[in-house]
Amino acid sequence: MHEMALCESLMAIIEQEATMGRFHQVHSVSLEVGLLAGVEPEALQFGFQAVTHGTVAEGAELRILPATAQALCVLCGLEETISRPMSLCPACHGPLHVSGGRGLRIKEMEVE
Ligand SMILES: [Zn+2]
Repeated sequence: MHEMALCESLMAIIEQEATMGRFHQVHSVSLEVGLLAGVEPEALQFGFQAVTHGTVAEGAELRILPATAQALCVLCGLEETISRPMSLCPACHGPLHVSGGRGLRIKEMEVE
Protein backbone atom coordinates (compact mmCIF):
# COMPACT_ATOMS: atom_id res chain seq x y z
CA MET A 1 0.00 0.00 0.00
CA HIS A 2 1.93 3.03 -1.22
CA GLU A 3 -0.79 5.50 -0.20
CA MET A 4 0.73 5.62 3.29
CA ALA A 5 4.12 6.64 1.88
CA LEU A 6 2.40 9.25 -0.28
CA CYS A 7 0.66 10.67 2.76
CA GLU A 8 3.93 10.81 4.65
CA SER A 9 5.58 12.85 1.91
CA LEU A 10 2.47 15.02 1.67
CA MET A 11 2.71 15.68 5.39
CA ALA A 12 6.41 16.50 5.07
CA ILE A 13 5.51 19.19 2.50
CA ILE A 14 2.77 20.60 4.74
CA GLU A 15 5.09 20.76 7.75
CA GLN A 16 7.73 22.51 5.65
CA GLU A 17 5.14 25.02 4.43
CA ALA A 18 3.92 25.52 7.99
CA THR A 19 7.44 26.43 9.09
CA MET A 20 7.98 28.83 6.19
CA GLY A 21 4.46 30.25 6.02
CA ARG A 22 4.10 30.36 9.80
CA PHE A 23 0.56 29.05 9.85
CA HIS A 24 -0.51 26.88 12.76
CA GLN A 25 -3.62 25.16 11.50
CA VAL A 26 -4.56 23.56 8.21
CA HIS A 27 -8.28 23.43 7.48
CA SER A 28 -8.26 21.68 4.15
CA VAL A 29 -5.90 20.36 1.52
CA SER A 30 -6.91 20.06 -2.13
CA LEU A 31 -4.83 17.39 -3.73
CA GLU A 32 -4.76 16.71 -7.44
CA VAL A 33 -4.38 12.99 -7.98
CA GLY A 34 -3.58 11.58 -11.39
CA LEU A 35 -6.10 8.95 -12.46
CA LEU A 36 -3.25 6.76 -13.69
CA ALA A 37 -1.29 7.00 -10.44
CA GLY A 38 -2.93 3.84 -9.14
CA VAL A 39 -3.94 5.54 -5.91
CA GLU A 40 -7.02 4.45 -3.99
CA PRO A 41 -8.84 7.58 -2.80
CA GLU A 42 -10.16 5.77 0.27
CA ALA A 43 -6.75 4.53 1.27
CA LEU A 44 -5.41 8.02 0.73
CA GLN A 45 -8.07 9.49 3.03
CA PHE A 46 -7.31 6.88 5.64
CA GLY A 47 -3.56 7.49 5.43
CA PHE A 48 -4.08 11.22 5.60
CA GLN A 49 -6.05 10.91 8.84
CA ALA A 50 -3.29 8.76 10.27
CA VAL A 51 -0.30 10.95 9.36
CA THR A 52 -1.97 14.25 10.29
CA HIS A 53 -2.79 13.07 13.80
CA GLY A 54 -1.11 15.40 16.27
CA THR A 55 0.15 17.78 13.55
CA VAL A 56 -0.85 21.21 12.21
CA ALA A 57 -3.12 19.38 9.77
CA GLU A 58 -5.02 17.34 12.34
CA GLY A 59 -8.72 17.30 11.44
CA ALA A 60 -8.08 18.89 8.05
CA GLU A 61 -10.29 17.90 5.17
CA LEU A 62 -8.57 16.17 2.27
CA ARG A 63 -10.18 17.04 -1.05
CA ILE A 64 -9.13 14.73 -3.83
CA LEU A 65 -9.32 16.20 -7.32
CA PRO A 66 -8.93 13.60 -10.05
CA ALA A 67 -6.58 14.62 -12.86
CA THR A 68 -6.88 13.06 -16.29
CA ALA A 69 -4.04 12.20 -18.66
CA GLN A 70 -3.45 13.12 -22.30
CA ALA A 71 -2.82 10.45 -24.86
CA LEU A 72 -1.39 11.09 -28.27
CA CYS A 73 -1.16 8.44 -30.96
CA VAL A 74 2.23 8.46 -32.61
CA LEU A 75 0.83 6.93 -35.80
CA CYS A 76 -2.45 8.71 -36.60
CA GLY A 77 -2.10 11.75 -34.35
CA LEU A 78 -5.31 11.09 -32.42
CA GLU A 79 -5.44 13.06 -29.18
CA GLU A 80 -7.56 11.92 -26.29
CA THR A 81 -8.13 12.66 -22.64
CA ILE A 82 -7.99 9.42 -20.73
CA SER A 83 -8.92 8.48 -17.20
CA ARG A 84 -7.62 4.93 -17.13
CA PRO A 85 -4.44 3.28 -18.40
CA MET A 86 -4.38 2.77 -22.18
CA SER A 87 -1.47 1.80 -24.33
CA LEU A 88 -3.01 1.34 -27.76
CA CYS A 89 -4.79 3.88 -29.95
CA PRO A 90 -8.55 3.15 -30.09
CA ALA A 91 -8.61 4.21 -33.77
CA CYS A 92 -5.59 2.53 -35.34
CA HIS A 93 -4.12 0.42 -32.50
CA GLY A 94 -0.86 2.31 -32.80
CA PRO A 95 1.28 3.01 -29.72
CA LEU A 96 0.05 5.86 -27.53
CA HIS A 97 2.23 8.46 -25.93
CA VAL A 98 0.66 9.25 -22.55
CA SER A 99 1.46 12.33 -20.53
CA GLY A 100 0.19 13.47 -17.17
CA GLY A 101 -2.23 11.66 -14.89
CA ARG A 102 0.44 10.03 -12.79
CA GLY A 103 1.43 12.57 -10.23
CA LEU A 104 0.09 14.06 -7.04
CA ARG A 105 0.10 17.78 -6.52
CA ILE A 106 -1.15 20.09 -3.80
CA LYS A 107 -3.46 22.54 -5.53
CA GLU A 108 -4.69 24.51 -2.59
CA MET A 109 -4.43 24.67 1.15
CA GLU A 110 -6.71 26.52 3.52
CA VAL A 111 -4.66 27.60 6.49
CA GLU A 112 -4.82 29.86 9.49
ZN1 LIG B 1 -3.87 6.09 -33.86
